[in-house]
Amino acid sequence: MRKLALLLTALFPAAAMTQPAPRAPKLLIAISVDQFSADLFDEYRPRLTGGIARLASGTAYRNGYQGHNATETCPGHSTILTGSRPSRTGIIANTWFDLTQARSDKAVYCAEDERVAGSSSSKYTVSPIHLRVPALGELMKAANPASRSVAVAGKDRAAIMMGGQRPDQRWYWDGKKYASDLTGVATPASVAAANQAVAALIAAPGLPLTLPADCVAKARSVPLGDGKVSVGSGRFERAAGDARGFRATPAFDGMTLALAARLIGEMQLGKGAAIDIIAIGLSATDYVGHSLGTGGAEMCLQLHSLDSDLADFLRLMDRSGVDYAVVLTADHGGEDVPERLRLKGVTAAARTRADLTPAAIGKAIGAKLGLAGPVLIGEGAAGDVYFDVGLKPADRRRAEAAALAAYRADPQVEAVFTKDQIARTPSPTSSPDRWSLIERARASFDAQRSGDLVVLLKRDITPIADPSKGYVATHGSPWDYDRRVPILFWRPGARANDRPEAVETADIMPTLAALLGLPIDASKIDGHCLPSAALAACPAR
Ligand SMILES: [Zn+2]
Repeated sequence: MRKLALLLTALFPAAAMTQPAPRAPKLLIAISVDQFSADLFDEYRPRLTGGIARLASGTAYRNGYQGHNATETCPGHSTILTGSRPSRTGIIANTWFDLTQARSDKAVYCAEDERVAGSSSSKYTVSPIHLRVPALGELMKAANPASRSVAVAGKDRAAIMMGGQRPDQRWYWDGKKYASDLTGVATPASVAAANQAVAALIAAPGLPLTLPADCVAKARSVPLGDGKVSVGSGRFERAAGDARGFRATPAFDGMTLALAARLIGEMQLGKGAAIDIIAIGLSATDYVGHSLGTGGAEMCLQLHSLDSDLADFLRLMDRSGVDYAVVLTADHGGEDVPERLRLKGVTAAARTRADLTPAAIGKAIGAKLGLAGPVLIGEGAAGDVYFDVGLKPADRRRAEAAALAAYRADPQVEAVFTKDQIARTPSPTSSPDRWSLIERARASFDAQRSGDLVVLLKRDITPIADPSKGYVATHGSPWDYDRRVPILFWRPGARANDRPEAVETADIMPTLAALLGLPIDASKIDGHCLPSAALAACPAR
């Protein structure tokens, strides 16, 4: 994929390569690669030579943690620039349930304003109102109003959770174009140009990509489920006009990076009176993982393409003359399809049963106890489960006992915790690789939004029963394949510093704040400045 370079000619004036300096950079670039697990980073790191390799040549934590249980996109992005876990950001899941809502499904999307008339959990009004804490860009602007904060992402929830309230610009892919939730803000020319370029790209057919040499051995077709679909040997052919398919191709990240680079140039970020920040959410890795798994030729192609596009992006930054610093991490990890995992000897890998859902279990409990209504409300096999608010207190107690018994007896369930159990558990203070399961659930807990029960599946159980109906693989579990992510800090001239210790993505924000010399109230965040990031001296604890 050399499209990024082609799209981005002459955006920046030529300038000398930025030299390392013992002072704050003028531009912070925070990149989240959606579903970029530490497992993928470890596997591909020796073979990548582009932008990911460059960023890994600075201070590289290969054991970063999105430590919480609900390892989903929205919670993960909420930790990266707030210094806080989902238990503090309030973003406990991509979707939670508010049974007091008038809407029929009671579901609330993490990045919506459900108070807007006509908004629904699927056709929502994008908004940051659910985020309970400020993002770094807000704190920078509060300290110096000349600071500018920009967020660009393939997903609205990534741009919302990393940009926080009222950034100067926020753009995300809405399915057809890059769009914004901000009102009263002039649209930069870069956005129109990017939307024109992406429309032309989608209108043309996507031709099969050439497999890099190290992807060839991975190009093996693996049938999924009952054999109706298979994955493994795809090369991202796409029909002309297929905008949905476009999301699950490497070109999607190329376009988002191109828009970010255009905005940096147009807004002259890093060249103003104060320090600026741009958050970039790259979503294609997640769509590739969901629709094709993480272990085939497709993910291999995606990561090589991303590595190449990031190299182009960083070269443009070098030429811009801006003194910049980069952090790259992920909102969560991911796991491959169970069918291919079993071929590799992961014998426990399996899909959930279709009857392991709150609706099915609630229906069975209702029939047994003679209770009307859904009894249990929730989505998917794992995560937050709510009791129907229509249950009388005595019936609710009987239903809870029956639900706990049903989940505990299920061979695919590792644990089920009640809301009270989780609320009584102190927030973990140990290293995130050593948290107990209930501590992981505690890091995802919000007293107002969390479910009455939280269900955790056994390791290597994929909560997708039928892979022929959409996604084939996913994340969201409390296991390290979903929790462990790389955290890479890099600045021109950075020295290699490979760090093995477990740290949290919530540590990123206070580390960047120290780099900027921005005072942070440590009592209001969960993370800690990482002295080994070697970018700056951490404030005394
Ligand atoms: Zn995902």
